[in-house]
Amino acid sequence: MKKTIKRLVAGTLLTAVVMISGLVTLIFFPEPLFAHKLEHGQFNVYSNSDINQDIEKILDNALTLVRHSELYDADYTYDIFLSYNSLYNKIDDKVLGHGPSARATGNNVIIKVDIDADRNLAFPTFYHRCEVNLTYIIAHEMIHCLQENKYGKLKFNPFRHPEYWKLEGYPEYISRQPQLSGTNYSLLNEIDRYIDLESKLTDIWMSIDEGGCKAPSLYYKSRLMTEYLMDIRHFSYDQILEDTTSEDSIYEEMLRWRDTVRKEN
Ligand SMILES: [Zn+2]
Repeated sequence: MKKTIKRLVAGTLLTAVVMISGLVTLIFFPEPLFAHKLEHGQFNVYSNSDINQDIEKILDNALTLVRHSELYDADYTYDIFLSYNSLYNKIDDKVLGHGPSARATGNNVIIKVDIDADRNLAFPTFYHRCEVNLTYIIAHEMIHCLQENKYGKLKFNPFRHPEYWKLEGYPEYISRQPQLSGTNYSLLNEIDRYIDLESKLTDIWMSIDEGGCKAPSLYYKSRLMTEYLMDIRHFSYDQILEDTTSEDSIYEEMLRWRDTVRKEN
């Protein structure tokens, strides 16, 4: 009897281990779950539906943004998974949880939500269906891939990584360059806008863009702090990671800088 129970327990454990390792393998190596593949420069694109050729232009534009980053690696290949309505999404939702519209693991960029490559849009549904620029989402996730590529899996993984503002501020800073380098753009005004939006918040979710999508307010704050450090103080990303000044101190310093510049003008 005891032997039978032991065998049953061992059998159940073995099945569980096989299932979990299978799921983990599919999360990190999801290629077999997708029927279509398109190769384009530094990209492999996977999808279950036909891949719209317009994605190539979007990927080229995302790569142009990422080229501005000190983390850029010309030999790196990105695997882009358009996983909306796929078995992969179902597994990913179960294992890693509902929520993010995109994710980066290793060299995989997973776009979990519906996209329209013609219009360069993605449609997150976390709160309600909204619109966000697809090039921006892809470039943001590509920078996450490059963080891990440059600094290693031990320093950048879901369980261990630099403080959130250092993790998310830099991908935001790089992927939003088209907006940040616009002629009408002003960091001073953006800081004011952030403070105004933040004062009206009832939770952590903030509408940063026009498309009605919400993101944790930290994304906006982190990008402004990264922008201040890189554009005004001329830090590299390496230096930001190494610097031990606290988030609060950097934020206060940025506000003092804003006040000083305002007084001078
Ligand atoms: Zn991110």
